[in-house]
Amino acid sequence: IDANLGAYTNEEGEIKGIIVLLHDITAIRRLEKMRSEFVANVSHELKTPITSIKGFTETLLDGALEDPEISRSFLEIINEESDRLNRLITDILDLSKIEQKKMPLKVEEIDLSQLIKETIRIVREEARAKNIAIYLPAEKDITLEGDRDRMQQIVLNLVSNAIHYTPDNGEVTITLREPDEKSVEMVIADTGIGIPAEHLPRIFERFYRVDKARSRESGGTGLGLAIVKHLIESHHGMIHVESEEGRGTTFKIILPKYQTSRFPA
Ligand code: ADP
Repeated sequence: IDANLGAYTNEEGEIKGIIVLLHDITAIRRLEKMRSEFVANVSHELKTPITSIKGFTETLLDGALEDPEISRSFLEIINEESDRLNRLITDILDLSKIEQKKMPLKVEEIDLSQLIKETIRIVREEARAKNIAIYLPAEKDITLEGDRDRMQQIVLNLVSNAIHYTPDNGEVTITLREPDEKSVEMVIADTGIGIPAEHLPRIFERFYRVDKARSRESGGTGLGLAIVKHLIESHHGMIHVESEEGRGTTFKIILPKYQTSRFPA
């Protein structure tokens, strides 16, 4: 705490009172600490793919190029690592824009059941390759106000995580419900590896992963859930997670049906 002390007097110079100004600077310090930790994390995350790209390129230049098979597999790794770098930078920029509120929502009426169906197309092939069944909400139309692209980003991040962290032959189930006339609830449940209880409180933190190797393997950036949480909060919603190791994970999202104070009588 930072304190400023002052006294005020009357015309005769008698002290009539004192003023104490207390500034709570712990919040500022904490913010500074978080910022520098974030920069350190970002640098580390960017360095990992670059180190790998550099290593494989050098080995190729040192002679591995002579062998077409080795060349091919090294180039594939270089290509994948460049993609990862690209995803990382996009995610970092996204997160910083959302946090600085530089990304105003383009609010429109969204048919959420339809949006989920469209989004699933992006990951369908991946699910098929692992023989994971995806169950979609029933036909009933459920609409809400929100930013279509951002809403798609939320669904895509959660569903791709569900697929990545679910072993072959598992299931991913998406359900939609209107618990009351002002809100929409979306639940994304998987039968995957689950998240150990001690990690649960931290999974929405930037770059926090339960298993770094596994996240890397699936092409993760460790930023997906941080972005999802911010996007949901910018829509004035909430996200909640429940998980059991070895059994599966369930994300429950509650979003207001209307972004404006508009509410039909
Ligand atoms: P990543 O890019 O690593 O998937 P996220 O921010 O999307 O990063 O998720 C953070 C971590 O939370 C993941 O690394 C993983 O350990 C855990 N996680 C997220 N979704 C699931 C899920 N559906 N099942 C199990 N673990 C999950």
